[in-house]
Amino acid sequence: MSQARRFDCLILGGGIVGAALALELALSGRSAALIEKHRVGEGTSFGNAGLIQAEAYLPYPFPRDPLLLLAYAFNRRAEAHYQLSSLPEVIPALWRYFRASSAAGQMETARANAPLVRAAVSDHRRLAAAAGADHLLRPGGWARIFRHEAGLSAEISKLGELALFGVEADVLSGDELRARVPGLSDTVVGGIHYTAPVTLNDPLALTQAYVRAFEALGGMVIQGDALGLRQGSGGWEVPTDVGVIVARDCAVTLGPWAPDLLAKLGYSVPMFYKRGYHVHLKPDVPLTMPLLDVEVGYVMAPMRQGVRLTTGAEFARRDAPPTPVQIEPIKRAARALFPLGEQAEVTPWMGARPCLPDMRPVIGAAGQHKNLWFSFGHAHHGLTLAASSARLLGELIRGEAPFCDPAPYSLSRFG
Ligand SMILES: Cc1cc2nc3c(=O)[nH]c(=O)nc-3n(C[C@H](O)[C@H](O)[C@H](O)COP(=O)(O)OP(=O)(O)OC[C@H]3O[C@@H](n4cnc5c(N)ncnc54)[C@H](O)[C@@H]3O)c2cc1C
Repeated sequence: MSQARRFDCLILGGGIVGAALALELALSGRSAALIEKHRVGEGTSFGNAGLIQAEAYLPYPFPRDPLLLLAYAFNRRAEAHYQLSSLPEVIPALWRYFRASSAAGQMETARANAPLVRAAVSDHRRLAAAAGADHLLRPGGWARIFRHEAGLSAEISKLGELALFGVEADVLSGDELRARVPGLSDTVVGGIHYTAPVTLNDPLALTQAYVRAFEALGGMVIQGDALGLRQGSGGWEVPTDVGVIVARDCAVTLGPWAPDLLAKLGYSVPMFYKRGYHVHLKPDVPLTMPLLDVEVGYVMAPMRQGVRLTTGAEFARRDAPPTPVQIEPIKRAARALFPLGEQAEVTPWMGARPCLPDMRPVIGAAGQHKNLWFSFGHAHHGLTLAASSARLLGELIRGEAPFCDPAPYSLSRFG
């Protein structure tokens, strides 16, 4: 029987949120073990669109427009799809999401998330610099694009709200956009280019870079099952194949899988999932920046593997079999906008965005257990918010004054 290994902190789950926290703690001299069941960075964090969204203040709300709702009810829109067999489980969560999506609720979430969003890019820059991975953060931003003037005008009208948060954007005509994105179809009438965000052409590489830097500072990555977590006399323990791993503090960064562990510890988490898919198409000319085709509802992003098309939301049980019905419509739409060739893979990748009804993450002290900490539920913005969430939780774990008030992210807000 191997001996117990002792650390200051256990981090459960090696997605981008856990990787950023691991590096944050290692940089401040804490010893930590990152417990990952599979391979770091290959969960939800593997397949996103690579946007670190400096402008992501306004949450994605549940739509309230009756016509749009009708289109969703008939599964007529590529940006959102629901799986009929998952409905009984999904409906209560959607109802909570609907209620939290009032105009007042959206503004409350925007204000609550603002400190994390404001720090998102600079905190990633800090961690990436420490990891020698600055080159992975591609400057130049990304754009929302439109085929119709009406859509563009509606989007322009939202810029006032974003300006309240200091967001700057270039409103571009179709020709101005084509000058920045050669190859873009002349059916595009214009768009909004957010210039401050940085983007990735390999999200996995960033997670791996953070983890490598963590290891270089003495951190350990250990394969193990977080569901084995228990409280022992010396602190939190996880049994693994290499022995029992023990630490005073334990941070849960399990993304979509957090509720599985928390249920065992007596916490109820109203998490629901917006599943998303991606495929890669080979471009005939390089795509110069990620584009969100707002009217159809997908992102096309230049990646190492080709142009990645990421779908909008599929409302389904996390573990229900994949139903990638949104892929064909978005491939057609993307090929009409940009010269794209063959699909690189046979089977689309699928991930599950871990969502809370108010579109805010859960970050901070667990509440019912001493030295247990949470950082999960980052929904559409887990890549964006990983580094600033890591800074906040790192400060809380170390007992320092946090750079922002953690109260809006407490799990206790759900009662
Ligand atoms: C299609 C799509 C596009 C997206 N685009 C963007 C984007 O452009 N920008 C953005 O900011 N966000 C985006 N997101 C959201 C973002 O990807 C997620 O919010 C983020 O990856 C969540 O990270 P995480 O570390 O919390 O979870 P994960 O990356 O899922 O990490 C959790 C880890 O826990 C591990 N684990 C699970 N169970 C156990 C266990 N029992 N024991 C040990 N380990 C376990 C898993 O293997 C996994 O590695 C997108 C999501 C999707 C699906």
